[in-house]
Amino acid sequence: MSVQLHAFTCGWLTIPRAFMLDGEDGLIKVPVPSYLITHPKGRVLFDTGLHAETLEDPAAYVGEMLARYHTFDFTPGQEIAARLAAFGVDPAGIDIVINSHLHFDHCGGNAQLPNADVLIQRRELEHARAVESTRGYLVSDWDTGQRVRAVEGEHDVFGDGTVVCLPTYGHTPGHQSLRVRTETGGEFVLCGDACYLRDSLEKLRLPGVIADKEAALAVFRRLREMQSRGVTIMYGHDPDFWTTVPQAPVRLG
Ligand SMILES: [Zn+2]
Repeated sequence: MSVQLHAFTCGWLTIPRAFMLDGEDGLIKVPVPSYLITHPKGRVLFDTGLHAETLEDPAAYVGEMLARYHTFDFTPGQEIAARLAAFGVDPAGIDIVINSHLHFDHCGGNAQLPNADVLIQRRELEHARAVESTRGYLVSDWDTGQRVRAVEGEHDVFGDGTVVCLPTYGHTPGHQSLRVRTETGGEFVLCGDACYLRDSLEKLRLPGVIADKEAALAVFRRLREMQSRGVTIMYGHDPDFWTTVPQAPVRLG
């Protein structure tokens, strides 16, 4: 059995455009993606979307500060466990959750994957422990009791080069992306928040909110170099791009 990659969205958020592209006005509605990677040695999820409690009353869960800048379009059936179940995958059968980082729209579903190890960059975990929830880090999202495997830098998850965590620091101090090599679809980089939009990469446009600009630009250059070699870049929050992405159960690669 080869490595298979499936992509799917778990709701949408409307946020200020300036969050995505520094200096812009108005709002943008962005998808909240997740990915399922099926490897002969295990089932992996990359990012888990929003917490199920935000289906009912997002402000009560994320707090007023975050709710002010995020309008949730997230309805029952869009949470990670329901999305997986809808295409025949038991959430209890997920072996590894890899979080790009610990912002609330990337690890909110971790609690629904009870048997998974959580794989995260050590420096992201340390950052999450150190900052206030108003910065996007909610303890109840990321401190959910599973075994945590803190990694440092590049990490080959199965030791065969097919699923590799790439440190892409910049958006947050310990952000990581995931490179997935499939037999039929070639190579993909699941960016997470290292690259929100196609425009971010094509025009080297940084977001308005960012931990380290120079690091983020270095990541853009690295992604461009990979793209030039034929790697498919999966932009983290691009609404136009995501309307073109085949959703699970259709295979991406
Ligand atoms: Zn983020």
